[in-house]
Amino acid sequence: MTLKIESNCLSVTAVNWQAIDTVFLDMDGTLLDLQFDNEFWLRTIPNEYARRQTITVEAAKAYLEPIFIGEAGKLNWYCLDFWSRTLGFNVVKLKEQVSHGINWRPEAREFLERLKASHCDVVLITNAHPETLRVKLERVNLTPWFDQVYSSHEFGEPKESQLFWERLQSARPFAPDRSLFIDDSESVLASAEHFGIKHLITLRQPDSQGPIRLVTQYPAILHFDEIYHGLADS
Ligand SMILES: [Mg+2]
Repeated sequence: MTLKIESNCLSVTAVNWQAIDTVFLDMDGTLLDLQFDNEFWLRTIPNEYARRQTITVEAAKAYLEPIFIGEAGKLNWYCLDFWSRTLGFNVVKLKEQVSHGINWRPEAREFLERLKASHCDVVLITNAHPETLRVKLERVNLTPWFDQVYSSHEFGEPKESQLFWERLQSARPFAPDRSLFIDDSESVLASAEHFGIKHLITLRQPDSQGPIRLVTQYPAILHFDEIYHGLADS
């Protein structure tokens, strides 16, 4: 990987694709715009909870915030069954109602087309619940570009856990030092690094409506076209 450091910004300027055999890609905030998820959890869910409890949206947010904080990074956070139980309504149904908001990130589709034509094994690994994955894939069908798609729920551990990586490696063997992993979550990247994944990239703007992250723990790209070099035109 070729890197550039400019006023504390660590950027990837090129990937040596010949050094990579396996590409692991995250879904939300990496291939798909995180705006949908942020909107859903920070607006749609509190609004629906407030409506059902006949309380104000502010009261709903005040109730939900400690639960969100308590579950962040755990498998429950991504588990729609947990949220349906905790909130008292069908979260999958609500997600389906607003699924028109699910969209690609810029250049993501083009990037997948190039990867598909490459020698690399291309694997989607997401913490999204299988039902979330289903709703998302119905809207944006990512599967044709992937050799394999995994929800961490299949392994019973989120990507933040070392057990996830051990189980992933048993399910689909890979060489950590010849693997590239792209994910917008730095805690997830830290877990992959701990497991030994050598090539790690994060995203500067997972949410198209959110700020551009200037300081990142891992080398970053804004859009995938920055790492096209060495991948054939699709
Ligand atoms: Mg993500």
